[in-house]
Amino acid sequence: MNLNSISRRRMLASTIAGGMGATIGAKFSPAQSPIGRNQSLPQVKIRKVRAITTAPDGIRLVVVKVETDEPGLYGLGCATYNQRPLPVVEAVHSYLDPFCKGRSADDIEDMWQTAYTSSYWRNGPVLNNALSGLDMALWDIKGKRAGMPVYQLLGGKCRFAVDLYAHAGGRDAKEVEDSVRSYVERGYRHVRIQLGGYGASHLSNKADFKESGFGAGTDEHMDSGPYLRTMPKIFEHVRKTLGDEVELLHDVHERVNPIEAIGLVKELEKYKPFFIEDPFAPEQNGYFKILRQQSSCPIAMGELFNNPHEWVDLITNRYIDFIRVHLSQIGGLTPARKLATLCEHFAVRTAWHGPGDVSPVGHACNAHLDLAVHNFGIQEGPRFGERLQEIFPGCPEIKNGYMHVSDRPGLGIDLNESLAAKYPLPEHPGYWSPVRRRDGTAVRPYSQYRSTNVG
Ligand code: MG
Repeated sequence: MNLNSISRRRMLASTIAGGMGATIGAKFSPAQSPIGRNQSLPQVKIRKVRAITTAPDGIRLVVVKVETDEPGLYGLGCATYNQRPLPVVEAVHSYLDPFCKGRSADDIEDMWQTAYTSSYWRNGPVLNNALSGLDMALWDIKGKRAGMPVYQLLGGKCRFAVDLYAHAGGRDAKEVEDSVRSYVERGYRHVRIQLGGYGASHLSNKADFKESGFGAGTDEHMDSGPYLRTMPKIFEHVRKTLGDEVELLHDVHERVNPIEAIGLVKELEKYKPFFIEDPFAPEQNGYFKILRQQSSCPIAMGELFNNPHEWVDLITNRYIDFIRVHLSQIGGLTPARKLATLCEHFAVRTAWHGPGDVSPVGHACNAHLDLAVHNFGIQEGPRFGERLQEIFPGCPEIKNGYMHVSDRPGLGIDLNESLAAKYPLPEHPGYWSPVRRRDGTAVRPYSQYRSTNVG
C-alpha cells in the first residue's frame, strides 16, 4: 500500500461521510432523527422570534416561539411574567427578534451569552424572561433535531419521574388538616401547609389604617403576631392528626421581620419540616448566616432571584438547603443547569419555583431538568386544567404526586395558537396590591391580585 492509495481511501471515506450527512440532512424528521448522527445535520438559522400570550385561567402566560429556516422546525420557551407580561412581549418583538434573525439556532450557549449582554444593562426580570423564552425554545429545537427529549441532552434520567409537593391550606387547623389529608390520599408525599393567605392575614382584625382613611379601600391587612403565634400550633395539629410520614413544608413569603422569621423557624424545627421557604426578603440575604447558626431546619430560597450575585454566596457558604429559582426569571434552562451544578458541589438541592404563573412549557422545562440533575430535591407541583391541556398538547402529566414528561423530542410540548388566542390577557394589569400593618406600613411583598396557585 503506497501513500497515494491511502490518500485515495481517505478521500473516498470523506466523500461517503459527506454524502451521508447531506442525505440525513435532506431527509431530517424530528421524530425519526437517528440518535448519534446529529453532528452531520446542516446548520439551521433563526427566522423569527415572537411572543404569544394567553390567559385561559386568568394568569397571563407568555410563550416564545422560535421559528427556523427549516420548514416545520420550531421551538417553544416560557417567558411568563404574570405581573408585567407586556414589557416582555415588547422585549421579544422589538429587541430579541431582530437580534436573533439569521443567527444559528444550534449555538445555544453563544446565543444566550450574546443576547444577555446585547442590552448592556442586564439581570432584570423583563429581559431575563424574554431571554428564557429564546433559550428554552433553542433547547426544544436542539432536542427535536437530535430526536431526543431534552432530559437526554442533559445526561439522561436520574429518577423515573419528578416528585412534587402540593399546596394545602385552610383558615384553621381542621381545614388545613383536611386539605393535607386530601393530598395524601391522592398520593402526594410532600405537602406545603399555609394558614389562609400568606401571613395568615385573616387572623388580623384591627386595621386601624382603614378607619383613618390611609391607603386604598382594597388594601389588605396583616400583622405579624397572630401569624407567628398560630403557625406552630398548625404544625403541631397536623403532626398529631396525620403523623410523621408526610413531609411538611411552609412558605413564610417574606411577610415578617427577619428576627421574627428566625424565631418562627426555630419553633417549627421540632416538627421536622422538609423545608421552610423564603424566611427573608432577598434584600435581607445577610440574615441567612445568622439563621444557620441557630437552627438546623432546612431552608429554601430564591424564587425572586434574578442573577448570580444573589445566589452564589448563599450556596457556597452553605446557608441554604434548597435553591428554588424561577427558571424563566433567571434567563432559562442554560443558566439553571449551571446553577444546579454549582449547587451539587455544595449539597444544595433543587426545588424550582413552579406556581400557576409558569406556562406548561416552563413546567415541562422544570421537569426535564429535575429528571436529569442528581441533586434534585423536590418540585413545586403545578395543576393543569383541561383548558391548559388543550392549549398545550403534550403537557406533562401528574400521577400519584409525580410529574411525567412526554418522551417526544425536545421539550415534548406544543402550543395550539388558535385556541390560545381565544383567551386574551385580562384587562387588569396584574400588579400586586398592598398589604399593610395595623398602622398602614406596607408589608413586603404585597398580595397577589386574584391569587391563584401562586407559590
Ligand atoms: Mg414561595
